[in-house]
Amino acid sequence: MDASILDSLNAATLNRRITVTLPSKGLFYDENVVSDKLDPDDIPIRALSMLEENSLLDPLLILSGKATESVIKALVPGIKKVGSMAIIDVQAVLMASRIATRGENYEVTVSCEKCKQEGHKSDFDVTINLLAHLAKMQPLTNDDLPFFHDKIGKLHVYFRPPIFQSVIDTAMALAKANVFDEDAPTNSEIFNEEFIQKYLNRSTVVSEVSVGYFAGYIRYLKIEDGEEVHDQETIQAWLENAPSPVIDQIAQKVKEIDARFEDMLTADVECKRGHKVKVSLNLDTESLFSPAGYSKTRKNTPAGTPDTGKIESTS
Ligand SMILES: [Zn+2]
Repeated sequence: MDASILDSLNAATLNRRITVTLPSKGLFYDENVVSDKLDPDDIPIRALSMLEENSLLDPLLILSGKATESVIKALVPGIKKVGSMAIIDVQAVLMASRIATRGENYEVTVSCEKCKQEGHKSDFDVTINLLAHLAKMQPLTNDDLPFFHDKIGKLHVYFRPPIFQSVIDTAMALAKANVFDEDAPTNSEIFNEEFIQKYLNRSTVVSEVSVGYFAGYIRYLKIEDGEEVHDQETIQAWLENAPSPVIDQIAQKVKEIDARFEDMLTADVECKRGHKVKVSLNLDTESLFSPAGYSKTRKNTPAGTPDTGKIESTS
């Protein structure tokens, strides 16, 4: 097979190429995450092949993060470790490839909570312009770095935007524990030994997942006049042993970081009765890449948090 002819064939049928700026600006990445050849300001994104696109519609491949990982690697060769990429960067790349593949109009059915409460029909269809949304994503600058720092006693905590792997780990751990699949227990079940054991196990998983989730926002620790700790396992072990006020302070910062990225991951739309509704564009490849004309009702999830149900970044 002649590779150059294949290139010509592909070039002749390409929809469009667009470039994207990484919203994190690569400020939190070392040489293990991205190659130094990668310019965070100018990443060309091509359309996805049908095979790549199909992988993004497979529920199991989505949950495990494998589909997104291989698609991002294929689209952006300068990325070495997709798991360590900021979610917001992964999202920007996916959005750009969605535009290159299927155009900028994203048709979706949204549910208005206020209309529902007032007894009106709550579902309505909107078209979100993804290109306009992508243009709205203001990348971070060096001036934003002090925001990602906090001091707890004599410990400096250096934060970062949440990374892709931590969202996947959270989703996988919760799915494995079936944490949110349980129906409300009946009174007789509550006194059942088997139920209590199951409940304890689930509650342990939820606590562990919360610690792992917060750890995903921490880039490194530095003891005043002392050494730096970059190892994620050590950071997680520190969090597991930390008292509540420390966790509360971390949770507060995590909440502020989420708020910082909220606009980038949500689109503002209006229902027919004039209520403002936020639509999450949060890593939901299944609906982002669904064929044109097909839409499904979006849950309105808080931005920056994984769409896994109930992990709260507040305490
Ligand atoms: Zn409404």
